[in-house]
Formats: sequence, structure tokens, C-alpha cells
Amino acid sequence: MTFSLAIVVPAFNESDVIDAFHARLGAVLDQIDATSRVIYVDDGSSDDTWHKLGAITGADTRATALRLSRNFGKEAAMTAGLDVADADAVVVIDADLQDPPELIPDLVARWREGFDVVYATRGERDGETRLKKFTSAVFYRVMERLSDTPLPRDTGDFRLLSRRAVAALGGLRERQRFMKGLFAWIGYRQTAVTYHRDARYAGATKWNYWRLGNLAIEGITSFSAAPLRVATWVGLSAAILAFVYGLWVLLKVLLFGDPVRGYPTLMVVILFLGGIQLLALGVIGEYVGRTYAESKRRPLYYVESRHGGEPPFT
Ligand code: UDP
Ligand code: MG
Repeated sequence: MTFSLAIVVPAFNESDVIDAFHARLGAVLDQIDATSRVIYVDDGSSDDTWHKLGAITGADTRATALRLSRNFGKEAAMTAGLDVADADAVVVIDADLQDPPELIPDLVARWREGFDVVYATRGERDGETRLKKFTSAVFYRVMERLSDTPLPRDTGDFRLLSRRAVAALGGLRERQRFMKGLFAWIGYRQTAVTYHRDARYAGATKWNYWRLGNLAIEGITSFSAAPLRVATWVGLSAAILAFVYGLWVLLKVLLFGDPVRGYPTLMVVILFLGGIQLLALGVIGEYVGRTYAESKRRPLYYVESRHGGEPPFT
């Protein structure tokens, strides 16, 4: 049985690696008995990625590319690619060769066994600092405890999705797109393939701790109401403590009279309660902000131009 396979590749300022990437990917696709199509999504690059994609799509009829009207972020770029991918199986892969294209046949094999989502789990990682490995480990453990949707550990966005998994994802139009969470949330039969994550081939990572931190907050608040609950519990405990302390102060006054002292305790209590209130407000604000962003119902991206014809393909 021959089938159609689409490869979605988000690319943002990847002109240093895009040619090498396409060469390696093309060699892999040659081996697979499928009608394949590569969909590059240029996420508003400012270097000559788009120009190089023009050459790639010109030389290889399997390749198409679309360019978003600005940098919308990787999550939106992947969504744009998935939206136009009309194939029996769709693979999402990074352009920087950190996800080895050579793993695609393994993903396809598991899909043929009947799995809908086959994600690639990294065994070891090269080229990443210990701090990055440590923070990412902490993040996955925290998510695991907090969220109702279990996230597979040490898994990037590199994975294969069946046609119905892509359709399910396409139905989720929320703006705060934490794709790793959405991939898991849709359910269906999911399985993992382990691989060795290489260091970036060339160019620099687009992530820094600020962006990663924001992604982590996004992941936690989109997939868990636990922070709200923590705010409630902390607030409640503080209120009970304050009440007990208030009783104690009252008792002391009644038993021993009231020489004017207690300025320090007063300050401590005020600051403590003020701090807790601010914390709780911050947590609530996080969720209010989310509701606000969703309520605007803005499109997730705009396509500016295309190379290599219009998907869908047959
Ligand atoms: N990417 C993107 N838009 C962005 C940032 C990144 O499309 O705003 C793409 C990037 O071109 C690459 C993939 O997402 O193909 C992963 O990015 P990167 O390698 O910088 O992330 P890391 O591997 O360090 O997590
Ligand atoms: Mg990378």
C-alpha cells in the first residue's frame, strides 16, 4: 500500500542549515515508498531563508514553502504547516538537523502498526548546556505533577501524526498554543521512538531563558488550573494564621492591657498579607489575560507568499 506523507518544517532564520537539511531529508524520502511532500513554513525570517527555499522548491518538486507575514513563533508556524498538510501521515521536524530525518522511516513503521501519534523521545542530548538540561528536566517533572494531560518526558515537537490526529489538532484554535500539550491532549493511540538528539548543525538557537520561561508558564497555565488552586490554598492558610494571630493579640490586650507596642508585628502582618494578595492577584491575572487573549479570536497567522504551488496534494 502506498500512502501520502507530508513533512512540516518550521524555519526561522535557518539559511545556514536549510540546504543541508533538505539534502538529508530528500535522501530519506527517496527511501520511503510514499508520495511525499515537504512543506516549509518560513516564520518571517529576516535572512535569506525564503530565497533559499525558492531554490529548493524549484529544484525538488516534492517541496513547497509558505511564508508567514511576520515572525509568529514556532507554534503558529507548525500550525500553518499542519493546516495545509493533506496526507495520510504528517511529520513535524525542526530545520536545524537536531531532529534526525533518518528517524522518519521508524516513525512511519510505528504509524503503520496503527499508532496515531508517534513521538520521538530524546535519549541523550548533545550541544546543550547542563543548565538547559536541568531546567527542562525540572519543567517536565513539574508539568507531570500539575497537569491532567500527561506530557511525555523529554519530547520535542518532532513526531508523526496520522490524518485524524492532524484533523483533531486543526480543530484546536486556541491562541496560547502549547503544542506539546495539544499533541498529548488529543489522545488516540500514542507511542514513542527513542533517538539521540544531535547538537544544532549550524546557526543559533532561537530560544533563550526568557522565551523558554514564558513557554513554561504557557504550558502550565494552559494545561492546569493548579496555580489557581495554590493561590486559593495559600490565601486561605494565610487568612487562618492571621485570624489566630488576631485572637492572640486580642487576648493579650484583655489580659495584660495595652502598652503601645507592636509596631513591628503590625508591619509584619500587613506586609505578609499584602504579599500574599499580590501573589494571588498575579496568578488570577495570568488566567484573566489568557481569557482576554482567547476572546479576541484572532487568526493564528497570515500567509504572505508561497513557493512551489498550492498544497493540498494527492
Ligand atoms: N522556529 C520557528 N519560529 C521561531 C523560532 C524557531 O519557526 O520563532 C523554528 C526553527 O527554525 C527550528 C525550530 O523552530 O526549525 C526549533 O527552533 P530552535 O532550534 O531554535 O529551538 P531548540 O532546538 O533550541 O529548542
Ligand atoms: Mg534546535
